[in-house]
Amino acid sequence: MSYRMDEPLPEERYRPDDGCPLFSPRLEAHLVAVSRGETPERGTFCGNCFTPIGRETVSCPHCGEATSARRPVDVVPAPIASALRVQRQTEGQWVNGFAYIGVLIAMVLPLAAVLGIPTLKDSLILGTAVYAPLLLIGMRVFPAILGGYFGDRKGFEAARAKTRAAWDQWVADRDRPGGTHST
Ligand SMILES: [Zn+2]
Repeated sequence: MSYRMDEPLPEERYRPDDGCPLFSPRLEAHLVAVSRGETPERGTFCGNCFTPIGRETVSCPHCGEATSARRPVDVVPAPIASALRVQRQTEGQWVNGFAYIGVLIAMVLPLAAVLGIPTLKDSLILGTAVYAPLLLIGMRVFPAILGGYFGDRKGFEAARAKTRAAWDQWVADRDRPGGTHST
């Protein structure tokens, strides 16, 4: 088994114990690589949480499901892959939104400082000389803090709620008598 790992796995990320086994870092890495055409779609996956596993694996290292209890599958079902797309999209929107607020703060804060000091306010050159470096520093600091920290957290929560809903729907479909996904 080989998986291209172009990005660091999000191992450090907060992983809630919320009863939804999606998405192990390995499953996320696999689906992202597939979406980029970097790895084949087919493989061996846990029949419960769809973490990539080996052919000889007897119990899933992520969710603990025994392969004898729920047979492994050779492709991740489309609804699961699409749930990850929604999750990543939602996270991205929150990060970008907060980063944008950071840009606004970075522009407005030094402007307020310059306008608040009469000496700077009355001199275009002095005012600009103070505003420009503050703007440059702020543009590096505020978007990173707001997007990378607050946006990341809020985005994760919002995205996770969608993933949980998708998982509940999936389990309901799967376990429904005569359901499309029951084996
Ligand atoms: Zn599993």
